[in-house]
Amino acid sequence: MTGTFTISLDFELRWGIRDNPGDAQYADAIIGGRRAIPMMLKAFDKHGVAATWATVGLIFAESRDDLLQHIPALQPTYSNTALFPFADVHEKVGQGEIDDPLHFGLSLIRQIEQTQNQEIGSHSFSHFYCLENGGTAEAFRADMASAQAIAQSKGIKLESLVLPRNQLSTYHLHAAKEAGIATVRGNPNALIYRARPRSEERAVLRALRLADSALPLTSTLSMPVRDQKTGLADTPASRFLRPIQSTSSVLARLQQNRIKREMSQAAQLGKNYHLWWHPHNFGRATEANIENLLSILRHFTRLRDMHGMQSMTMRDLANTIEWSNGKHDVATPVTG
Ligand SMILES: [Zn+2]
Repeated sequence: MTGTFTISLDFELRWGIRDNPGDAQYADAIIGGRRAIPMMLKAFDKHGVAATWATVGLIFAESRDDLLQHIPALQPTYSNTALFPFADVHEKVGQGEIDDPLHFGLSLIRQIEQTQNQEIGSHSFSHFYCLENGGTAEAFRADMASAQAIAQSKGIKLESLVLPRNQLSTYHLHAAKEAGIATVRGNPNALIYRARPRSEERAVLRALRLADSALPLTSTLSMPVRDQKTGLADTPASRFLRPIQSTSSVLARLQQNRIKREMSQAAQLGKNYHLWWHPHNFGRATEANIENLLSILRHFTRLRDMHGMQSMTMRDLANTIEWSNGKHDVATPVTG
């Protein structure tokens, strides 16, 4: 098989950062991220690059009423109450996208949908935390049913899923499958990227992941696999594209070189390279981040010309599992 290149974006506006201390100071990055989305779409279109936009279900609402109509019947009961998102609906959410661009984003979903080779996927309905106390599989089942229902009301079927904070759990994935999900973005196959609740996150792990973005500590190339426990296709992440302040910073240059080298390896070895980030990561220093992305996309077009590397959404990539071995139940082992 030829190498493949996959991009996924966790599209969440304020819903993904609302529980972070000082989140109000981040509003400019969210608004900047909205401005960056059409620029990303133009860049993808120009280079024939596909992407999956894993979108928080609440963003699909066209109005406050529409949002209220889709609130899940069963809600998580996080012991850390700051994680509970629905209190914000009554206290902080406006009437719609015009007066409240931090919580609503249907016009952006429509722009993504209208661009070639772009898939709208799910990032749960409420930015659900599967590994936090109170985030039960039953509540997640209801959350995913709401995600699918609000998307369907806009003519969209969700097939690919990215779990918030990459908190993967088999029980929850069974529930996602029942809601019609076929593909999930797994974590890189290295200890420092293993799924953890926030309480088990350590500064040393974060430091190692930062170092790994610039220096070759781990190898995270992979192949899509059929998860034996859930039957879902797993299209594991390779690397988070970290936001940069300027294209000339040392870290930006190291990261870009590392990503390009890994992409070249994937193209030569016939593996997948799966890059991900959030639109709001481009919300500050937008031009520098777009320039960084364009350089990566140009590198992809060279690999496409030289090695036949293909750009695929998570859904397209999952479909290659059938193409390569003709069966659902035989999976290629993750390597690297
Ligand atoms: Zn998120």
